Amino acid sequence: MFFDCHIHSTFSTDSTMLIENAIKTSKDKGLGLIVTDHMDLNYPIEGSFIFDCNNYFLEYEKYRSNDFLIGIELGLRDDCIEENRKLINSYPFDYVIGSIHVVDNIDIFQPGFYENRDKKDSYLHYLNYMYKCIKESDFFDSLGHINYVTRYAKYDDTELYYNDFKEIIDEILKVVAYREKAIEINTRRLENKITAQNMLDVLKRFKEIGGKYVTIGSDAHNIASIGSNFDIAKDLATEADLKIVYFKNRKKQLD
Ligand SMILES: [Zn+2]
Ligand SMILES: [Zn+2]
Repeated sequence: MFFDCHIHSTFSTDSTMLIENAIKTSKDKGLGLIVTDHMDLNYPIEGSFIFDCNNYFLEYEKYRSNDFLIGIELGLRDDCIEENRKLINSYPFDYVIGSIHVVDNIDIFQPGFYENRDKKDSYLHYLNYMYKCIKESDFFDSLGHINYVTRYAKYDDTELYYNDFKEIIDEILKVVAYREKAIEINTRRLENKITAQNMLDVLKRFKEIGGKYVTIGSDAHNIASIGSNFDIAKDLATEADLKIVYFKNRKKQLD
């Protein structure tokens, strides 16, 4: 069974999706599901993008099954590495996505991150920070949405072209490949052919460097997005000759 390995429910500050509805929708679509609510320790707005893990497990444990698993999307930062590690080691997560949402204490959703910076500068800043964080943070299973910066940047063409940033992207991919971890194919915007081609270029390079695994996640914040663009994602994985996996009890499972 294929899994949607990245969705947000009511434990995420930016989602109101009820877990019961998410589980029902994934079943209807023939998909397994891993809930991965947002945890960004030290988020610039106090109390946002964090949640109580005790309650999370208390409320969701009763739904846990072979096709519904409990994960987390952990925001990686360079100023709370030990806190992040401790959190991950304190709870029985099936799966941990490591994501970069905040750079220099600015959520890159904010236009301020791009002000007075050209694309090359802001993207390099984002990618260098990602490299620094993932090198230090060895407690995640899949690197979430490597192209996150493309969602909110304020340039005419926000796409992340491998060739424009290959040195730093290679360093990032090497860290993930050497640890035998996965790269996430985030299916948001994947219906865009340029977005898909750019992701494919990254995945092919990951394979060349020795990477083996990908996860697929819709990043759904509502039921309509669950499983979206999965056919495109599967094609990309096949074309790059990478194995699609999901994680249960922090261990790779072949789809
Ligand atoms: Zn994210
Ligand atoms: Zn997400």
